Amino acid sequence: MKTLFVILLIFLNLPLVSQDYDKLRDNMVRRQIRSRGISHRLTLEAMRNVERHLFVPTAQRRRAYDDGPIPIGYGQTISQPYIVAYMTQLVNPRPGDRVLEIGAGSGYQAAVLGEIVEQVYTIEIIPELGARAGKLLSDLGYGNIEVVIGDGYYGLEDQGPFDAIVVTAAAEYIPPPLVEQLKDGGKMVIPVGSPFMVQTLMLVEKKGDRITTKNLMPVRFVPFTRD
Ligand code: SAH
Repeated sequence: MKTLFVILLIFLNLPLVSQDYDKLRDNMVRRQIRSRGISHRLTLEAMRNVERHLFVPTAQRRRAYDDGPIPIGYGQTISQPYIVAYMTQLVNPRPGDRVLEIGAGSGYQAAVLGEIVEQVYTIEIIPELGARAGKLLSDLGYGNIEVVIGDGYYGLEDQGPFDAIVVTAAAEYIPPPLVEQLKDGGKMVIPVGSPFMVQTLMLVEKKGDRITTKNLMPVRFVPFTRD
């Protein structure tokens, strides 16, 4: 009888309870993130804390902790959990930092950064997505994350320079204004390459007048678009 009841719940696609999501999230961190070599403590803690299922469409919540990207509407996607953790660890975020993200999308990557650093600005070019991410982040109490609607190509000169910049849409080349807005010693992670093809995730570092770039791994991101 009890089994029949559970089958009925699943069949009706009723939401799982909060403890179920906690368990799924713990498994995600162990099996997809730690096991693949992410060891930065603050990144792991943030991935354990942010309730990823709240950032995906309701119908996709059961899949929120799966090992892949998920559509979030308007042709955009929330990145695979491992990629979010990898990009976060790469910029080595620290508690006092000011960080800029380009491509707010669901707001998930911003929330992960917001768990760690002092202030996050995230720019989104699709107004509906930006508004939705802004409302969710403020409902969840992230008072240190500001969503700005606009073309992230130009960064946010008024709020810079930044300790780190995380770009979550694939650009044909590295936007010069973003390099400009990195602090001395700052790091930027950005997928570079043609839209709809495999791109290269790159790490850009600024040390005094020197800019260094490093190719990290092949990735596939949605395109960086322009207004
Ligand atoms: N970081 C997001 C993933 C978003 S996908 C998350 O955690 O959910 C990439 C996002 O970049 C999309 O929402 C897309 O609309 C946005 N985007 C693309 N080009 C942009 C630009 N020039 N400026 C700001 N946002 C841009």
